[in-house]
Formats: sequence, C-alpha cells, structure tokens
Amino acid sequence: MEFSLDLMKELSRCIGCGACNISCPMFHISDYRETEGARARIKLISMLGSGKMDLTEEFLRYIFTCMNCGLCTDLCPVGIEVFDVIVKSRSSLVDMGYVPLVTVDMRDAKRRTGSPIGEGLTKGVWLPPDFQPKKDADILFFAGCWVHTAPDVAITMSKILQKIAPNMTPAGPNEPCCGGLLRVIGEKDSSEESKNELLKYIRDLSPKSVVSGCSLCASLFPDLSMKYFSSFVEEALNSGKIRTKSMKGKKNRVFLLRSCRSDGAAERILNRIKNANVIDAPDWICCDCGASLIYQADPEKFDRWFKRVSEIASDSNADYLVIEETACYSMISKLLEGKNKYKGMKILSFPSFLISYIS
Ligand code: SF4
Ligand code: SF4
Repeated sequence: MEFSLDLMKELSRCIGCGACNISCPMFHISDYRETEGARARIKLISMLGSGKMDLTEEFLRYIFTCMNCGLCTDLCPVGIEVFDVIVKSRSSLVDMGYVPLVTVDMRDAKRRTGSPIGEGLTKGVWLPPDFQPKKDADILFFAGCWVHTAPDVAITMSKILQKIAPNMTPAGPNEPCCGGLLRVIGEKDSSEESKNELLKYIRDLSPKSVVSGCSLCASLFPDLSMKYFSSFVEEALNSGKIRTKSMKGKKNRVFLLRSCRSDGAAERILNRIKNANVIDAPDWICCDCGASLIYQADPEKFDRWFKRVSEIASDSNADYLVIEETACYSMISKLLEGKNKYKGMKILSFPSFLISYIS
C-alpha cells in the first residue's frame, strides 16, 4: 500500500485533537463512537499508508462511506484539509485497483447511464418532450442529477429563476453529469472527464451566468463558474430583482436543513421573510449530494442520521422542516414514502417553501 509522499505528509500533521469530530455527523449519530468520526478516519488511513494496518474489504468500505459533508475540514487547528485528504486517499486506493463494492454500482451506473444515480433517473421529464436549451440566455439552469428526480422542485426552481431573469433556460435532458459524486468516491479520472464534458456543454450554449441546483457541483468545480441556487437567489434579492413577502401568522417555526456546501444564503433568505422564525440548528446538521453515497451504500445509517436530525427539529417545535439541497429532499422523500408531514412538521424543499414568499 503506497500513498504519495504529499498525502503521507499531510496525514502525519494530525495531532489527534479530535476537533474534526465535533462537526462530523457520523460521530454525532453514532452516540459519539470514536471509530465513526473524522479523527479515526484520518488516523486509520495514516496507519494503512504506513503499513500498520492491512486493507480488508470492511476497512475499504469504511474509508469510502461517510456523509461526505466536508465539515471535518472547518475546525482543524493545524489546517489539514481533512475531507480533501479523505478523498485523496480514496483516489489513491482506486488508482491502485482497490474499488470497494459499495462504490462499484455508482461507478458502473455512470458508465451505463451517464449518471452515478443510475437507471431510476430520466433527465428533463419536467420539460416539454421537444425541449432544446436556448443559446446566449441570461441564466443557464444546470439542475444536476438529483434535481431531475424531483420534477416539482425542478419546475419551482425554474419559475424562481424566471422571476429573476425571464431569458432563462434549463440545460435540458442532455445535461451532462458534473462528476462531483464521482470525485468524492475517488474516481478522479472519470470525474474530470464528466466535468470537461459539462464545461464544453456550457461553453456551446454561452450563457451570461450558470446556476446550479446542486451545491456539490458548484463548489467542487470553480472552473465551471456556477453559482449555487440559494446564493444566486440571495444576490437577486440584494439587487432588488425580487423581493420577499410576509408569512401569515406569527409562529411559523422553520428548521432549515442546510446544504453542507452553501455559504449560508438560504438561512439569510429565510430570515428576510417577515414572520418566519428560523430556528438555530447544530453546526453538524447539513446534507448535500455527497450523502448519496451513504444513502445507497448504507441506508440504515442514512435512516439513523435523518431520525436524529428530525428529532432535533421536532424537539425545537418546528412547524416546517425546509430542506435546502434537492438531492437530500429527494432521498428523504423516498425514506418517508412521499409523505409531506413528519413528526408534526411540514416537509418542504427550500425552493417550494420560498416560492410562496417572493415576488
Ligand atoms: S466528510 Fe463529513 S461525515 Fe465524512 S468524515 Fe468529514 S465530517 Fe465526517
Ligand atoms: S482536527 Fe485536524 S489535527 Fe485534530 S484530529 Fe482532526 S485532522 Fe487531526
């Protein structure tokens, strides 16, 4: 087992303080079990690289399965890019030919269907059958794979973007996958290929700006120059292109399940809605497309994570559980078998909540 010197050097900088566990959702939902947290991942990967541990299928699976939220990087006092190190170690293992069974399906689904989400996905079902994206639009709406699985949310996002710029166009049924999910499962070559295909697709349509329905795509690939939906909407509010309206009544307790990679825009937007009472959530609560891995590979853990998140929301007397990232909204909807109420809370995607309170 040979990791690069750079990777080993980065791993060796860990002082074992455990700060990365504080923000790690896997740590929180496992009753603070050390082996589930970010610190153990770094330590065990380091032991693997220095030959102190053997690689087993179970250990390989362990390295590859977490929520992929990236929060572990935020608190490291010595500045290790913790999540980046985890992803780099996954890529090295893939390069050496060690692909865990849990990611084989995603990798193969991408090869077969063009998306790691697989056969269940038909892009653009929410668009007219003969739809073609416009060239030179003010906004190109790149939905992202998961948004296509929630047609109602895709339509709502489009309507909101149309309020901001009528000359908006969805990227359509041929929209390539950005490769973000492939990147987090260590398939860096195929991720790069996907990203470049998307880059070409965007360049051919030459829009003024590109809005992504998925925060993972927008944040992992700065060269795609995409803005995440929530940040773009906040800019439109700031520039007066759209405005917020009031909610009826005074209670309206809103618990936001934020996207892990957003810049806080959704929370700031909700706080601008008069009579919306946004509840403070613990920092480790977030979800984005990266969670697809654990959702597919270890549904029991995803289930446990959602139960814990919804308990916290319900204990804070939330009336609404608003889910920022459509990937998570889609996964949670499947878990709840389409029910839009849970523990007395109305479950809504962020765009579906927002559209009633903007003009
Ligand atoms: S990416 Fe998230 S779930 Fe994975 S180790 Fe880091 S904090 Fe924990
Ligand atoms: S926060 Fe940084 S130094 Fe501390 S245990 Fe985690 S990776 Fe190591």
